[in-house]
Amino acid sequence: MMKNKTIRALFFDIGGVCLTNAWEYESRRRAAGHFHLDFKELDQRHHHVFGSFECGRITLDDYLTGVVFYKKRKFTRKAFFQFMKNESRPHPSTLSLLEELKAHGNYLLAAVNNESFELNDYRIKKFKLDRYFTNFFSSCFLGVRKPDPQIYQMAMGMTQMEAKEILFIDDRENNAQAARALGMNVIHLKDVKRLPEELRAYGIK
Ligand SMILES: [Mg+2]
Repeated sequence: MMKNKTIRALFFDIGGVCLTNAWEYESRRRAAGHFHLDFKELDQRHHHVFGSFECGRITLDDYLTGVVFYKKRKFTRKAFFQFMKNESRPHPSTLSLLEELKAHGNYLLAAVNNESFELNDYRIKKFKLDRYFTNFFSSCFLGVRKPDPQIYQMAMGMTQMEAKEILFIDDRENNAQAARALGMNVIHLKDVKRLPEELRAYGIK
């Protein structure tokens, strides 16, 4: 495996890079259809609270109360959460790449992701992401979300890595831009399948 001499750590986004997004627009639309909910209302309510949800300031139960169960429903919270969980799927090409990177042991591998506690916990365990990542710098643990520079700075401080020693990989331009502004090496991953060649451009093969 080719090794980049400057880069010592790879920081991965999870949704859109390692797995599908946990609870994105399309998932909420599907849930509204499945449970016969008014999508516009659900989405508006989601937008009021999702920042607090992802920063760990409210629980899944609080979220569900605010977004779905503010009135009596014919289905349970458990059924709704199960639907949310079923929206998560792996991107196998990224996971096999992570497996190789881990086996070679050349880089510290960490996740830097925006996720609520409950979905983060589910996704890490379900897809065994702790096989690859040593650290999870997740918004629900740190109380701050990308693209706030603070979350990147926390990840740098907690790994004692300098920006130039880090390669950050994210599918969203604003998250990529924030990392770039701090001096990190960045892959803005528009297509998951292109990850191997994007890494090769950094001498990681
Ligand atoms: Mg993402």
